[in-house]
Amino acid sequence: MKGVRAFMPPQGLLLIAAYLPAEWEVRFRDENSHPASTADYRWADAVMVSGMHIQRNQINAINDAAHRQGKTTVLGGPSVSGCPEYYPDFDILHLGEMGDATNQLIAYLDENSSRPENQVRFETRDRLPLPRFPRPAYHLINLADYFLASIQFSSGCPYHCEFCDIPALYGNSPRLKTAEQVTGELDAMLAAGPVSAVYFVDDNFVGNRKAALELLPHLVEWQKRRQYPVQFACEATLNIAQNPKLLELMREAYFCTVFCGIETPDTNALNAIAKKQNLSIPIMDAIEILNRHGMEVVSGIIMGLDTDTPGTPRQILEFVNQANIPMLTINLLMALPRTPLWRRLETEGRIIIDADSLESNVRFNMPYDEVVGHWRECISRAYEPEALYQRFDYNRIHTYPNRLPIPSKGRATLPRLIKGSSALARILFYEGVLSDYRRLFWKTALPALRKGEIEYVIHMGLIGHHLIKFARECASGRESASFYSQRLREDAPQTTPEAAG
Ligand code: SF4
Repeated sequence: MKGVRAFMPPQGLLLIAAYLPAEWEVRFRDENSHPASTADYRWADAVMVSGMHIQRNQINAINDAAHRQGKTTVLGGPSVSGCPEYYPDFDILHLGEMGDATNQLIAYLDENSSRPENQVRFETRDRLPLPRFPRPAYHLINLADYFLASIQFSSGCPYHCEFCDIPALYGNSPRLKTAEQVTGELDAMLAAGPVSAVYFVDDNFVGNRKAALELLPHLVEWQKRRQYPVQFACEATLNIAQNPKLLELMREAYFCTVFCGIETPDTNALNAIAKKQNLSIPIMDAIEILNRHGMEVVSGIIMGLDTDTPGTPRQILEFVNQANIPMLTINLLMALPRTPLWRRLETEGRIIIDADSLESNVRFNMPYDEVVGHWRECISRAYEPEALYQRFDYNRIHTYPNRLPIPSKGRATLPRLIKGSSALARILFYEGVLSDYRRLFWKTALPALRKGEIEYVIHMGLIGHHLIKFARECASGRESASFYSQRLREDAPQTTPEAAG
């Protein structure tokens, strides 16, 4: 479905763009929405790239394209910081967060106009404190191209989930921006284009609960002053449900979606992967509490864990149905470097080094084909149109009415009405007319349309369309079983999911 061209703006690159010397001319290209042209490569002195592991092939293709024009290439961001060895052909690597390495890189590029003979690496030892982060260069993008806008409040997470590289990359003690920075960035976003939802990309929004509690009144105040122009979403650990004050403030600030890394409904498995924070409250209770505060839950699920059995798909599908979570990221376990999982599996001789043709680099306890088959079964059945629409409908009836009633004035700006009408028209055409599941679509959409719940129909229509399409591609083997999979297809959609919560 055209119109919205990408999920979220690339927060890291927007930050780097803002940090570069004011006298440097910057041309910003998001490959998800407007891929760089040959003319762009010719125009540049240096090509700076960032991305996640799933984008590895495309990152290396950009490097090749830039080198064909004789340009110096620089790569930073999460993938190269975790696995520099994935990118042997880049001229310069920037490893870690923004900090002393960024200053060294700028000085280097100022002094060297031609490509280095050997790869040069700059690694951050001193991170730039978040209060000194510049405001991301939102003016360089068209926010109308994105489903969600993104913002960062904190970096780092205090937990130690076995599979996660966030603590090693960004630290165990969350570092924070000031409330004024955050509200200033929100103002800049609103000025840059039509924004209706803003996603906090923090690894864990409640990694420092005290800080979240201090920020939230500022968000509430900002929303009130601006007449609630946006919905907020974030990633957080499930134990957020045990903090009533936090939840009430989030409701008042109009948080409508929370991504929780539930990972598995199996309590033995949660113990085994050191995700004990999910055990402090029964999972279903936590979801119900979040729903009661108007927040729809999005869940991460991991398959291929050592504790998985032939009964795991049934257990997961039962969980999906009972939890009524419309959207889940169901991934196969991957061992990322710099994680406790990698170290354990390496000791056990269970890392597959040459995993390019496989869905995972883990030697599973169960046969590989069986695990991949389980994953396909779960994805396909979770996103059968009827089941998916039922889960959306559950939230329409049981979750959304619990949201704060807000004035429509702040949300009904002309650019947003145009963006919304055009999205609605396309949804009604593609799903209501062209799709083979149009009967089910109308069964769910009509009651909402009759009540004037247009935003819901857009939400359900846009997300539903992509999930159903994604599931069908998975079932036919055209989609990877992990966001981190090395079995990357040439035509893989370049989404930028964050791992967290
Ligand atoms: S998975 Fe989430 S909670 Fe666990 S360490 Fe990573 S960011 Fe923290």
